[in-house]
Amino acid sequence: MNQAALFPAKLLQRLFGARSVLAAEPEVEAPRPPSLWDPAFAKAVEELEEGVMLLDGHGRIIVCNGVFRHIFRLPSPPLGQPFVGVFNPGRPDLPPHAATFHEAVLALDLRHESILELSREDGGAERRRLVILAWGEGAERCIFCRFDPPLAHPLPGGRQEHSETALRLERQELLRLNAQLRIENAERRAVAQALRRAESRYRDIFDNAGEGIFQWTPDWRLISANMSFARMLGFATVNALQLSTRDRPFHFCYDKEVALRLMAELESKNSVANFELQVQRSDGSPVWAGMSARRVTGPGGVTNYYEAFIENIAGRKSAEEKLIYQAFHDPLTGLANRALFLDRLRMALRRAQRKPDFSFSVLYLDLDRFKIVNDSLGHSAGDEVLCRAAEIIGSCVRDVDTVARFGGDEFAVLIEGTERSSLAVHVARRIHAALISPVIVRDQEVGIGASIGVVLKAEEYIHAEDILRDADTAMYRAKGRRKLCYCIFGKRMREETMESISLEAELRNGVKNNAFQVVYQPMVNLLDGSVHGFEALLRWTRKTGESMSPTRFIPIAEDTGLINSIGLHTLELVCIQMAAWEQSGGEPFILHVNISGKQLVAKSFARDVARLLKKTGVNADLLRFEITESVLLHDTGACMSGMHQIRDLGVRFCLDDFGTGFSSLSYLRRLPLSSIKIDRSFVSDIETDPQSLAILRNLMSLGDDLGLAVVVEGIERKSQMEFLTAAGCTLAQGFYFHKPLVAEEAGRLIGV
Ligand code: C2E
Ligand code: MG
Ligand code: MG
Repeated sequence: MNQAALFPAKLLQRLFGARSVLAAEPEVEAPRPPSLWDPAFAKAVEELEEGVMLLDGHGRIIVCNGVFRHIFRLPSPPLGQPFVGVFNPGRPDLPPHAATFHEAVLALDLRHESILELSREDGGAERRRLVILAWGEGAERCIFCRFDPPLAHPLPGGRQEHSETALRLERQELLRLNAQLRIENAERRAVAQALRRAESRYRDIFDNAGEGIFQWTPDWRLISANMSFARMLGFATVNALQLSTRDRPFHFCYDKEVALRLMAELESKNSVANFELQVQRSDGSPVWAGMSARRVTGPGGVTNYYEAFIENIAGRKSAEEKLIYQAFHDPLTGLANRALFLDRLRMALRRAQRKPDFSFSVLYLDLDRFKIVNDSLGHSAGDEVLCRAAEIIGSCVRDVDTVARFGGDEFAVLIEGTERSSLAVHVARRIHAALISPVIVRDQEVGIGASIGVVLKAEEYIHAEDILRDADTAMYRAKGRRKLCYCIFGKRMREETMESISLEAELRNGVKNNAFQVVYQPMVNLLDGSVHGFEALLRWTRKTGESMSPTRFIPIAEDTGLINSIGLHTLELVCIQMAAWEQSGGEPFILHVNISGKQLVAKSFARDVARLLKKTGVNADLLRFEITESVLLHDTGACMSGMHQIRDLGVRFCLDDFGTGFSSLSYLRRLPLSSIKIDRSFVSDIETDPQSLAILRNLMSLGDDLGLAVVVEGIERKSQMEFLTAAGCTLAQGFYFHKPLVAEEAGRLIGV
């Protein structure tokens, strides 16, 4: 019990100043008395309703008030007089030697409360509650005595003599006390009412708060909750929530580990802010919530309970999840995107570092016929093809593997656990076979096809990006060799890539160094054996003296953009040669020049051609530009417009390698073509394979029907020539007749 609790706050305040009214603060220092001679103090004591006296260390009265004097019927304050023998303490629990009240009080260590029978000066006696407080040591010691109003029942046998004056005084006193009680009661009621109002205001806030508010104990018992929280958990009322948790712990966290983390944080930090967790609803389903909570402690810092504000963040969470999903997935197919794929690759590399026997492989795919479907059937059909391809690829791999779309028609697959490298090859074959089978898009059968690059033993790499680079290289290699369904990346390929980089540097200086020459392969009229014309074919003599095939350096020139300057240079060489032959008065002849698609879409191409024609004076009617079908797969619109501009200059077009691409017949009608050149692959086994002959016949008649001149290339043997002649072919080209010839030799054939 603290000292302040023994005395009415009002008394202490008036006795010792505001400093002592600290009943709610237990650790406060004991109040020290103010100067006893202070008139304000004396007045305060005088006004008290209880009888009060203060004794010094020698038991002398130093302060006493009117009520005290009235109790003992003292006519004047007995200040300085020893308070001895005024009454009989009558206390069985006091030390036996305490013969006097003073001794008894001194023997008491601190404070005491007792019922005493007082003997008054006027000879009367009465029972009163005495409250004693002592503080200080020795002569410093002060004793404070408070005599409460007389108790109702006197001690049996006690004397009770009230004089009339005493009765009157008592009555007045009672009336005064009564009035005071009424005031106090009224005050108390007003305070209670204010409290109730404040309570109800706070309860309103608690009940109607948009946020959930609740309290729970360290052993997971729900103490209180508001409506928002009950609703968040799927209960119609707070009562329903309370009932459901009455006989069991209130495990509101959906995830046990999160619950442990939450409690650990609350215990260590006393509070948590914006703690995200999933709370468990009444039907067992989780819902995302953000919580701020604090630990409420009791004496000794022991946790009493926790209280929390909580709000439903399911909407924000799902928006966040959606954003994250979008950042890592392809919106069209729902597959992983490049970022997610790279992340998985990095994880696989880390795993391989930890587990030396772990192996994985990567496939890089490019659809072969996507472009043509997209251009001919429209973009939404193209989207359908991509989605079908994604499904097909997904169906060829296991759930643990990752399939990604990198944009356009490029896909990648990460196959984990390929300790047997045949597994990756097996998957590549399976995907290739599945993609070759036609799919139905917009009521049309479409064969997608794919070229696949494979990196086996990807765990030997350090950087994920390098794996993709090499898989991409292998994919290009597979695309270049049409009959290959996949290509495995090997060290040789890397060397070749490096070589192509050095080739590029050399190619750049080729035009300046006059490293290019043109050779001319005649096209023969089978009816009379005459030379119908020539195909100009480019040759590059390298610094080493080696002559490199255009099939090797043209793709590099195309990839690096060098094709524009090399192509124009070639055309210039050809036009100069043509003009020279024309001037020499030889037989009229047709001249075919191979043009890359990249040249065709270049804005300045038609202008450059016009300039060359003008400069050399060549007859544009005799000039044919050969383009391959694959040219049309990329940027068809730009190709078409380029072709029409050239056609306006008088130059005509020949579709080269006809039959190997994927031209739809509608293209043939729309292109400004004058001839087609049937690919040599249809001629190679014409004598033995009746199907090849049948296809060849059909291609020839298709050209005829479209009013196009038809040239068949790649005739190497007499027998092939005979078959072709029998099939009605008139124009042919091949080693059987002539190999590509230098200009001088070619000129001789036309009588120059
Ligand atoms: P292409 O336009 O189809 O040219 C025909 C290719 O077949 C030539 O190879 C030619 O030498 C070869 N050839 C002709 N008759 C026969 C035969 O009976 N048997 C065999 N096995 N081959 C035969 P070349 O000169 O190596 O050219 C290859 C390709 O390089 C050309 O195929 C063409 O696409 C491209 N090319 C050549 N010169 C140029 C050029 O100046 N510009 C562009 N953009 N490409 C060119
Ligand atoms: Mg050609
Ligand atoms: Mg050809």
